[in-house]
Amino acid sequence: MQPWQFFVLAGLGCATAVTFLIRGQGVMAVLLVSLLMATTTLVGIAALRALRPLVSDHEDRSTVIGERTRAALEQEKANTLRTIKELEFDRAMAKMSEADFNEMSVRLRARAARLMKQLDAGTGYRPKIEADLLKRLGNAGESKASTHAERACPKCSTPNDTDARFCKNCGERLS
Ligand SMILES: [Zn+2]
Repeated sequence: MQPWQFFVLAGLGCATAVTFLIRGQGVMAVLLVSLLMATTTLVGIAALRALRPLVSDHEDRSTVIGERTRAALEQEKANTLRTIKELEFDRAMAKMSEADFNEMSVRLRARAARLMKQLDAGTGYRPKIEADLLKRLGNAGESKASTHAERACPKCSTPNDTDARFCKNCGERLS
């Protein structure tokens, strides 16, 4: 059952209950109770919206966050490498002292190395996943092949598919 269906049913139930409860009451009472119902429903929907992402699509969300993190890391790596290039250019143009260059260069290279390590760690399980997938596909292919392996007819020895019920040559029933 979809959540909105639940709310519609709950709303109908409430409306019915209210109709029975306040028969013979004034118009103001009906309006107040209706308002209360509507507010309760809205609060319920708001709570549902807030809570639903926490319980469902958890994996998808983490994948997206992972992708974003990865893109951010790639971007930062590119920026760092460009800064190193600019730094080297500045030194070549004698805009920068040797000491400043050394200090900044060491810092930037350490940062680039750290980023590359993080990116490598992220891709670390990709080959594993691919190997796993290949293994599964290989297994599937194997089992498929085995179902189509040939089996000799007991009467005329004609090879038949293992899932065949009758021999394709003589019509003998295959057990
Ligand atoms: Zn046969």
